[in-house]
Amino acid sequence: MRDSKVIAPDLLAWYDRHARTLPWRVPPGGPPADPYRVWLSEVMLQQTTVAAVKAYFLRFTALWPTVQDLAAAEDARVMAEWAGLGYYARARNLLACARAVAARGGFPDTREGLAALPGIGPYTSAAIASIAFGRTETVVDGNVERVVARLFAVDTPLPRARPQLTALAGQLTPTERPGDYAQAMMDLGATICTPRSPACVICPVQTECEARRQGIAAELPRKLAKAPKPEREGVAWVARQGQALLLEHRPAKGLLGGTLAFPSARWDGRDLPPPGPAQWREIGQVRHVFTHFSLTLRVMSGQLTGNPERGELVPLRQIDREALPGLMRKVWDMAQGEIAA
Ligand code: SF4
Repeated sequence: MRDSKVIAPDLLAWYDRHARTLPWRVPPGGPPADPYRVWLSEVMLQQTTVAAVKAYFLRFTALWPTVQDLAAAEDARVMAEWAGLGYYARARNLLACARAVAARGGFPDTREGLAALPGIGPYTSAAIASIAFGRTETVVDGNVERVVARLFAVDTPLPRARPQLTALAGQLTPTERPGDYAQAMMDLGATICTPRSPACVICPVQTECEARRQGIAAELPRKLAKAPKPEREGVAWVARQGQALLLEHRPAKGLLGGTLAFPSARWDGRDLPPPGPAQWREIGQVRHVFTHFSLTLRVMSGQLTGNPERGELVPLRQIDREALPGLMRKVWDMAQGEIAA
């Protein structure tokens, strides 16, 4: 049976030489990482790539070096800095969690304690407990699932295989250096045991890998065919008055909650009229893919001929494209031609 005695030593020796250098990490064998930095990076990395997260992480930690600093930040400022990372519920939970941690005087040092905080699920609590507090916890993300499915040649498709993969991953987790081991597994999955073409010939655990032995590595993990994403439609209004555009803060709860946005309707379940009187003209459509649906948004443009019924007029020069969520950046980019005309 494969267990921590056979996998962990080879994997850790490889990690000591090849660990990725990432802004939230300490070098292999170093002191435990700062739980604030581990937590912040893990929340940012949910559904977002390492390459995209790096700049956001550096900016957040420059603005708010400690969890207390973040807890004291204004909601709107944090939401604006988060813009572009998507999944805005994460930013709201980030603030709620920072405030809960600051109120209790620091992060709990167990998986159970961490999992009780807002927005921290099984994966993130295990990652912080092992990487920042040296707890022997098993950290299972998509990368780890893939590596484990291959090491043990698990044929059951995902997501059904998940409990089995978690149990097998648990067998492999060592009591020595569990934090480095967790990061080594992540690195192995991200750099060598990649989804389409695993580089088995340079893999540090190749002699223990059943999928490699059977020649089926690239076929695993198997996955059930995905149902196509449902389609939604909606409308966004680019309302102008002189050198100002109408923007609104979206409701705190729900899609893109709390972000600054062009008034819009229907796609999010809100059946609202145009935000004010104007001769509306369609200038195009934008497409955007959310986790659970794909969206086509018709973009309407018009000069307001009376007072707006919601939102606030913001001078053009004060509108910061980077502070808009990704969907609204697409609307903004489309509106630019109109504004310049
Ligand atoms: Fe992945 Fe190949 Fe290494 Fe097996 S030998 S863990 S399939 S890279």
